[in-house]
Amino acid sequence: MQENRRAKALPGSATLQLAARAKELAAQGLPVLSMAVGEPDFDAPAAAQQAAVAAVASGQVRYTPAAGLLELRTTIAQHVETTRGYSVDPQHIVVGHSCKHMLSAALEVLLEPGDEVLLITPAWNSYEAQIQIAGGQPVWVPCQSDLRPDLDALESAIGPRTKGMLLNSPSNPSGYVWTRAELERLAALVEAHDLFVLCDEIYRRLVFDGATCPSFTSLDERLRARTVLVDGASKNFAMTGYRIGYALAPAPIAAALGRLVSQTTGCPNYVSQKAYQAVLAQEPPEVERMVAAFEERRDFFVPRLRELGMELRTPGGAFYAFPNIAAHLRGRTATEFCAQLLEQQHVAAVPGSIFHAPDHIRLSYALSLQDLDEALRRIATFLATPPA
Ligand code: PMP
Repeated sequence: MQENRRAKALPGSATLQLAARAKELAAQGLPVLSMAVGEPDFDAPAAAQQAAVAAVASGQVRYTPAAGLLELRTTIAQHVETTRGYSVDPQHIVVGHSCKHMLSAALEVLLEPGDEVLLITPAWNSYEAQIQIAGGQPVWVPCQSDLRPDLDALESAIGPRTKGMLLNSPSNPSGYVWTRAELERLAALVEAHDLFVLCDEIYRRLVFDGATCPSFTSLDERLRARTVLVDGASKNFAMTGYRIGYALAPAPIAAALGRLVSQTTGCPNYVSQKAYQAVLAQEPPEVERMVAAFEERRDFFVPRLRELGMELRTPGGAFYAFPNIAAHLRGRTATEFCAQLLEQQHVAAVPGSIFHAPDHIRLSYALSLQDLDEALRRIATFLATPPA
């Protein structure tokens, strides 16, 4: 028996592999600081936990409709109306196992073989693999040197096979939050070239400096007809392990997604649906506190990275610092740099190469201030050590 060509070519998630190596070292008793994984270090809100426990005890843990419980989809529709400012038909919402799941399902129903999808780099590494799994072709469009999107470059990259693009704001890995003006320029571009937009707002709530994250979908109704919005519980509600998310799509795409999940996953987990509904119905107080903690950590961590000679834009959202480390590579690739940082100083970081930004590394600051301080001390020692 042999796996097929597509499976052979499929890389595992590099961030999850790195996190696994960090866990291995920690299991050996080494004092590992993991800045590699994209996960809030907070517990899920009490409301989510209570709803999950009540769901288990209810005796109702059964199959649900494939696209999710109608009451959850209605709550999601209300949540989208509150947060993005337009009304939504719950029938256009499909609940899935996570944002990751719904991204890949959306690509499955949107792409014909060989269709090109634009990715503005640095881009989250799973997009590339998911486009390929769906039979499409990723096309990378570098951002500007200060991590702002380069919309001229994006327009130049559009060709006869271009079908759509991924939009991720706040961005993993850069933390960049698209401005309304940039979104408007993008809107004109996708309309002129008839492209779909797969709009990943998984970090929507994690923005700082009193800002809110403008949503592409809020701009106007015409754009919503070419956009699939995906979101989930993992980051905004610190519910990574609950594995729950949704897609909001125009009617025929939502129907196709519903058919796809009915054949592949059956339906989302009942317990997680109830937990997600609880936090969407009313934002739990823990969320505001978590956002404030991330902002405090960002304000602590980013200036100190600069003091170590790393160049970086202050991230407006998410919980990643994405410094340019070209000056510190000294003949190494970012992958070698990260491997040595882990083995020598037990700090796990992600090489920018997996996001198509080979002069950068990604450091998650979802750690306590004390751990961030310790990480900075170790990174300073590492930078002062000549490469092996
Ligand atoms: N999109 C982006 C940009 C992410 O960083 C992640 C998680 N790392 C996801 C989607 C997936 O989130 P989920 O846990 O809902 O699958």
